[in-house]
Amino acid sequence: MRCKKVNPEPRTLNPEPRTLNPEPNMEDRMDKWECPCGYIYDPEEGDAENNIPVGTPFEELPDDWVCPLCGAEKEYFEKVE
Ligand SMILES: [Zn+2]
Repeated sequence: MRCKKVNPEPRTLNPEPRTLNPEPNMEDRMDKWECPCGYIYDPEEGDAENNIPVGTPFEELPDDWVCPLCGAEKEYFEKVE
């Protein structure tokens, strides 16, 4: 009786294939960015006015995203340490 059941592990439980990150602690912490006008983009709040969902890191904002207060482009923002 041959019943060779090759059953590779079903990998449906892991929706995040982020194994390349050498520092797992960085996952929880997203940087805030400050506009010259004083506005601070906080990834934990997103930007409702511009349809930016909560949890969007600054780096993933669309290129045409601008400061909701003064209209400055992303390149003028500085990372808040
Ligand atoms: Zn601004």
